[in-house]
Amino acid sequence: MPTMLEPDAVASTASTAHPEDPIVLSSLTHDYGTRLALDHLSFSVAPAQIFGLLGPNGSGKTTLFRILSTLMVPSGGVATIRGFDVAKEPGQVRQQIGIVFQARSLDIKLTVEENLRHAGHLYGLSGKHLRGRIADVLQRVALTDRARDYVETLSGGMQRRVELAKGLIHSPAVLLLDEPTTGLDPGARLDLWQYLRMLRDEEGVTVLVTTHMMEEAEYCDRLAILSEGKLVALGSPEELKSTIGGDVVLFETDSETAAQSLAARMAGRFDMAALGNGAPAVLGNTVRLERENGHRFLTAVLDAFPGEVRGVSVSRPRLEDVFIQRTGHRFWTEKTDASETQRDHEKGGGHD
Ligand code: ADP
Ligand code: MG
Repeated sequence: MPTMLEPDAVASTASTAHPEDPIVLSSLTHDYGTRLALDHLSFSVAPAQIFGLLGPNGSGKTTLFRILSTLMVPSGGVATIRGFDVAKEPGQVRQQIGIVFQARSLDIKLTVEENLRHAGHLYGLSGKHLRGRIADVLQRVALTDRARDYVETLSGGMQRRVELAKGLIHSPAVLLLDEPTTGLDPGARLDLWQYLRMLRDEEGVTVLVTTHMMEEAEYCDRLAILSEGKLVALGSPEELKSTIGGDVVLFETDSETAAQSLAARMAGRFDMAALGNGAPAVLGNTVRLERENGHRFLTAVLDAFPGEVRGVSVSRPRLEDVFIQRTGHRFWTEKTDASETQRDHEKGGGHD
């Protein structure tokens, strides 16, 4: 049953979006039967930005990617790309966007050039113009000298660059990428980000990229953080981290029970009311809180509760802290930790 769009929600978000914003979401919702995968998302993406969609596995990134790339119609709400409605004007939207899927979409038995030529034909390009475009995009991703090579002879990082070139063949103003660095080694990963920055800076391309990796999200100009289909935070990485007060202090204990007991007594002993959102939270066997002068506080706690703490840490806020603060739980649960997700992806898992 499609969710109906609430006029109020649209009106309130429309006022925050600028007319020139190439991507605008208004109360965008999607359900797969009973499962709500996207829950009334409203935000917009400014031109020539690298915009990141950060969320753990199952948070709805691929669902949103598929809707924006016109592969799927949302159950409710509206999304526009350069003014075109993704559900009602998919043909026009496709002319505006380049798409890079999480899974490989190249024919490895063909050469790099042949793959790009086929991609160009799908967009109605041919002849001299297409040859010019192929030369341009290959130069962009520094693969001119590999044009005649079979894709299967290229490294994983090079194949991703061919995917990128393919997404750019028709000179789109907006580039959509779903977890583009999956399975790449750290060097190739940095390399791909370098190309995305170049596209933004030199061609003014608007880039929307999904990722489940916090380190990658740091490279984005602006981020939307998703949790279970809901928008939980929106802003630049710096803005988001600055919403956390002071340092993040962690006390590891022997068990969850011990952590709960310690958190309760800590709250009794120290002035937590003065902390605002920094009240202690229990995450498994760890007590976590936000506090100015974290080192001084840490020493005071260790003195007050000798022998109860097994390990400590004080750090500047990270994006994961933003996620914990907004959702009350860790980015990775025990069930789907980062390494497991990585393995899933390498096996070709996911919904693509
Ligand atoms: P992400 O890309 O962030 O991992 P997805 O968009 O793939 O998230 O999934 C969001 C939610 O929707 C998850 O709970 C997932 O299990 C569910 N889901 C995704 N695709 C389908 C589908 N084709 N049918 C039913 N449920 C789906
Ligand atoms: Mg996904």
